[in-house]
Amino acid sequence: MIRVENLTATYGEVIAVDDISVNIDDGGFVLVVGANGSGKTTFVRHLNALLEPEEGTVEVDGIDVTADPIAARANIGMVFQQPRDQFVAATIGADVAFGPENLGLDREEVDRRVESALQAVNLDGRANDRIDELSGGEQARVAIAGALAMEPSYLVLDEPFTGLDQPARESVLDQLDALQADGTGILVVTHDLRDLHSRADRLLGMHDGRIVVDGPPREVAEELPGIDVRVVEGLR
Ligand code: ADP
Repeated sequence: MIRVENLTATYGEVIAVDDISVNIDDGGFVLVVGANGSGKTTFVRHLNALLEPEEGTVEVDGIDVTADPIAARANIGMVFQQPRDQFVAATIGADVAFGPENLGLDREEVDRRVESALQAVNLDGRANDRIDELSGGEQARVAIAGALAMEPSYLVLDEPFTGLDQPARESVLDQLDALQADGTGILVVTHDLRDLHSRADRLLGMHDGRIVVDGPPREVAEELPGIDVRVVEGLR
């Protein structure tokens, strides 16, 4: 379980996250939705200690992320909006191996994890392909594989569909469905609910740094402040 208690984060005068308390169960599919600037990215970056809480606490599977950021990170995989910014190697296999290598695992275990992560995103046999020659959708899947190779309990994806066309989007969604079926908890930050609301079992709606809406997507989407009414109609 992820436990967030009284989390507050500021940038100078701006209160980006304002006293958030929320628990996120294992194995669920959660959407974090809200207008630009509502605090979504700042919130999720605290979940794996990319940002340290100024006030409040974040615990992942009983580990306080401030006390032990490395252990906490091992349980939460992050995939960023621009996967390109996340790659550290030239080829798919080397990139996906980077995380497990840094955990100090032996070669055999690293290879096993890379193979299994690439299988999970349908990129098996592609380890030697150059990342800069891949399509946007393939790059998104490499970024997911990199996070999966850490064998996390949760995967957090911040606007993972930016710049993807519909087939690529569907391919990433299929991977997420498969992962969830295998027990990985999924958190997706998005402003685009189109084909996500039916997959997710919970929607956290953010506004001005707070979670103002929390419930099953179909039931709560129209309570979201500032959300485009056409989006809500599409959900019915
Ligand atoms: P969202 O992901 O919902 O767009 P963010 O977490 O990025 O929201 O931003 C929340 C608030 O914090 C916004 O007012 C934004 O302008 C501000 N903010 C975010 N990152 C920074 C930063 N690095 N420096 C200063 N202000 C920031």
